[in-house]
Amino acid sequence: MIKKFLSSNESSIKKITKDNKYVTVTLNNKFKENSVDDRFWIYCKGCKDHVFKKDIEENLNVCPKCNTHYKLKARDRVDLLIDKDSFKEFEFDLSIQDPLKFPDYIEKINSYKEKTKEEEGIICGVGTVNSINTVLCVMNPDFMMGSMGSVVGDKITYSIEYAADNNLPIIICTASGGARMQEGMISLMQMAKTSQALSKLDDKHLPYITILTDPTTGGVTASFAMLGDIILSEPNTLIGFAGPRVIEQTINQKLPEGFQTAEFLLEHGFIDIIVNRENMKDMIFNILSLH
Ligand SMILES: [Zn+2]
Repeated sequence: MIKKFLSSNESSIKKITKDNKYVTVTLNNKFKENSVDDRFWIYCKGCKDHVFKKDIEENLNVCPKCNTHYKLKARDRVDLLIDKDSFKEFEFDLSIQDPLKFPDYIEKINSYKEKTKEEEGIICGVGTVNSINTVLCVMNPDFMMGSMGSVVGDKITYSIEYAADNNLPIIICTASGGARMQEGMISLMQMAKTSQALSKLDDKHLPYITILTDPTTGGVTASFAMLGDIILSEPNTLIGFAGPRVIEQTINQKLPEGFQTAEFLLEHGFIDIIVNRENMKDMIFNILSLH
């Protein structure tokens, strides 16, 4: 019975030999992944081992063994970067457009609102980083993969304009699947709108810092995410525009290993520095202090 179960998991049993007194069982990763209670353990994709879930959660969702950074809730990221009780969220009265009458779009949005208790895929406001005032926007990967529709675009644009009008720096933490396809062309227009707003900051020589977190892709990468004066990233972040398979098919070439990771992009000069989550606030403070 055991043998049957193991063989169905592509595992192997070594036979008893003269040198080998006991039967040894080698288990493949697939079997290991499924073999423990996932209420308490996480199978870490970085160190390919089981890590106590609580140890990861208490370490800002970072694996204490191998430093793999897992997703952090948007509200937790605000708390991580901004001084306690200093964050004032901007209030918006914006409703989602459904220009294409995309099937089930509004229902989907409503279910995300209920699930996340958030109104949209980004949190924007003003607060202090070790007593330095700044505008902060944090994209919410739990809300429709942090996709950028017209409301997300409006909120980012407002935040940038607020920073420009009040002579404040702005930090945007990205985490997004890209433009929200359910809004078609309107979502793509947000790329131009946010980029244009950033030119106002440029005119006033105000610093714009982006923090890229996993994943930062599509129209978000192709607009405000990569326009930071200083571009920071967390380790093992996926950063790209189109998916690797699409690129390979288009250029008819095999892509190098690690393509679209923060580490690869740092090596090729697309980002400025990779910062561990626990050090991010200090890094932001140092940059803001310099300005
Ligand atoms: Zn790990």
